[in-house]
Amino acid sequence: MEPLGPGSRGPAVADVQAALRSLGLLAPGEEGPGEYDRATELAVRHFQQVRGLSVDGRVGEETYQALSEARWSLGDRLLHHDPERPMRGDDVTGLQERLLELGYDAGRADGIFGRETEAGLRAFQRDYGLTSDGTCGPSTLRALRQLGRKVTGGRPQLLRQSASFVDSGPHLIGRRIVVDPGHGGGDPGFTAGETTEADLVLDLASRIEGRLGAAGATVYLTRGRHQDPTPEERTRFANDARADLFISLHMDAHGSEHARGVASYYFGTGSGTSSTVGERFADLARREVVARTGMLDLGGHPKTWDLLRWTRMPAVRLDCGYLSHPVDRQLLLDARLRGTIASAVLAAVQRLFLPAEADPPTGTFVLPQRGALG
Ligand SMILES: [Zn+2]
Repeated sequence: MEPLGPGSRGPAVADVQAALRSLGLLAPGEEGPGEYDRATELAVRHFQQVRGLSVDGRVGEETYQALSEARWSLGDRLLHHDPERPMRGDDVTGLQERLLELGYDAGRADGIFGRETEAGLRAFQRDYGLTSDGTCGPSTLRALRQLGRKVTGGRPQLLRQSASFVDSGPHLIGRRIVVDPGHGGGDPGFTAGETTEADLVLDLASRIEGRLGAAGATVYLTRGRHQDPTPEERTRFANDARADLFISLHMDAHGSEHARGVASYYFGTGSGTSSTVGERFADLARREVVARTGMLDLGGHPKTWDLLRWTRMPAVRLDCGYLSHPVDRQLLLDARLRGTIASAVLAAVQRLFLPAEADPPTGTFVLPQRGALG
């Protein structure tokens, strides 16, 4: 293919932009449609950086291939072994990782559905009483998703219960949630190489927005890429939206490279007065993130910050890791890991609005994706 770059235009560019949007790297309406403008170039650079490609802001063969692979997430399509044209994509990687995690030899998690992946999948299907056809479809996906790391060890009753719980489809229709990516515009926040905290939390916010939206919630972001609202503007926005929940996202950095981990903050004076719902959500969100990413748990803390004080709904700030810590930084720069954090936040929101008796253990609750299951 002819490489695309600044100045290119046409359907191929629009296609690249659609891929970038679906990855949450380009906000809708930000780019000139079909025009390879500055916003498109920045999004491509961002993508290349997080995927470990050489960063030139242009879409050649390699970047194009990576973009089309990244568009697939597990559940988007049936996966099987096609010896003529092997299926490739992030969904294949997801399947391979899941099988490996469950102890099946699915080959290397390379995103290519080969013979070994098929063998691993068939073995899994046999063990779990599914049709051993080597095709990953809705029932296999459901089984894979239900087998959380915490629900192993032969407790079929529990497995069945949590399966029917997910099938009953707890949803967030009618809930209004404001997601607040910190910084923005002229304020980059902390930086990690070419990437800024402002960009990373915006990417994370878009992923959370997508997941909450898929679960039926009405979601608003407090800013786009080029804005940096004041705390007052952010809280007024949430109050005007009559939000049920306000989630502010940040990442940290510290002079000591040893500082790492995830912390959450809710409104409270530390001497009794606090938002109980805020405290509960701060706890849920942090624990879900910690359980799914393995990052250090730095606890939840009451604060009287303006952002938490002026909001008239439960408000929580989540600081998801240290850009100054080598391991945290590597995790946060990985788009897939940010997807995991977004899923953790979704699970926390689901749990917040669920009756306590239906509440599944931390780290195990996975919402079916749109059209992906059954
Ligand atoms: Zn920040």
